Amino acid sequence: MSALTSEAELRLLFRETDRDEVELAPELTFPLAVESARTWSVGPRVFLVFRAPADARAGARLRGIVFHRNSGALPDVVAMCEWCHAVRGNGRVKLLSCKTDDRRRLGLYLCSDLACLEPTRDPRGPDDIPDGLDGAERARRALLRAAELAARRLF
Ligand SMILES: [Zn+2]
Repeated sequence: MSALTSEAELRLLFRETDRDEVELAPELTFPLAVESARTWSVGPRVFLVFRAPADARAGARLRGIVFHRNSGALPDVVAMCEWCHAVRGNGRVKLLSCKTDDRRRLGLYLCSDLACLEPTRDPRGPDDIPDGLDGAERARRALLRAAELAARRLF
């Protein structure tokens, strides 16, 4: 568990290329406790602060990523989240993109609010195909994939 004491400290978890885009949601207050992951949305942007699970290679420091949500997708499309592997209806898996450097972006189909990364949140909806996982196991797997991507492409 880490407790972030200020917005400045939170901003430093993000890469320089993302820092200007970091925006806090009203529900975030300091000190902000982060166990394994914390996600929030502001308009078309989704923010993720996470720590790689112990079995990942990426190391255990907190990192932040800014995603942009593509709102142009079909509203009722069924798609699979590349991180938690849940298949969700109603457009609840969306194309999110993040910067890989100042000129390029990387697109991923992910649960649109990234709730699958937080063990205590249940991202399931009535149109999802049941995946038989509890929240903690889903979040662990999703975090592992997120951490691998971050280590390979972003940080
Ligand atoms: Zn997901």
